Amino acid sequence: MIIHDDEFGEVLVRKSALARNVKFSISTSGRLAMSVPAHTSDFLAKRFLERNRKMVREKLPIKDPREHRARDYQKKVLMKKAKEYLPYRLEYFAKLYGYSYDKCRLTHANTRWGSCSSNRTISLNIGLMLVPEVLRDYVIIHELAHLNHMDHSKDFWAEVGEHDKNYKIHEKKLKQFSPGV
Ligand SMILES: [Zn+2]
Repeated sequence: MIIHDDEFGEVLVRKSALARNVKFSISTSGRLAMSVPAHTSDFLAKRFLERNRKMVREKLPIKDPREHRARDYQKKVLMKKAKEYLPYRLEYFAKLYGYSYDKCRLTHANTRWGSCSSNRTISLNIGLMLVPEVLRDYVIIHELAHLNHMDHSKDFWAEVGEHDKNYKIHEKKLKQFSPGV
């Protein structure tokens, strides 16, 4: 659900069975997002927003509402590029180094470049399309190595190092970029 707010523009309201109280955050498009308990009415959601307006204004880096749609568009373009590239690059390295995974998922989370789950799904952030190729490849190799080691143990890093001997430099350089699109 979306609330139209004069100050913040479009506010995303997510109703969640797990939410016990109201939480404010910033969506990947820079919009204000609220997660509220499942049965919260629109009226009540608006009241929560009103009551927390000052705190939200002061604490959260909401992007200018005029930029939201431009960011939606950028994200769409990036997703298209990512779809045409990341799954194939992943497949390429998996074949090259003899890994088998089940699925490749594309994400646009704010916090991580990639992840590997125990059901052998590898998730890659579409923001990888905006970092240098060598760092993008490093993230792919990193996630593939998680297929054998679900932690960041010595053995894990040794395996990463086999396929990317400059992984330490790449890990450090990656910190100069943010996965949020
Ligand atoms: Zn990792």
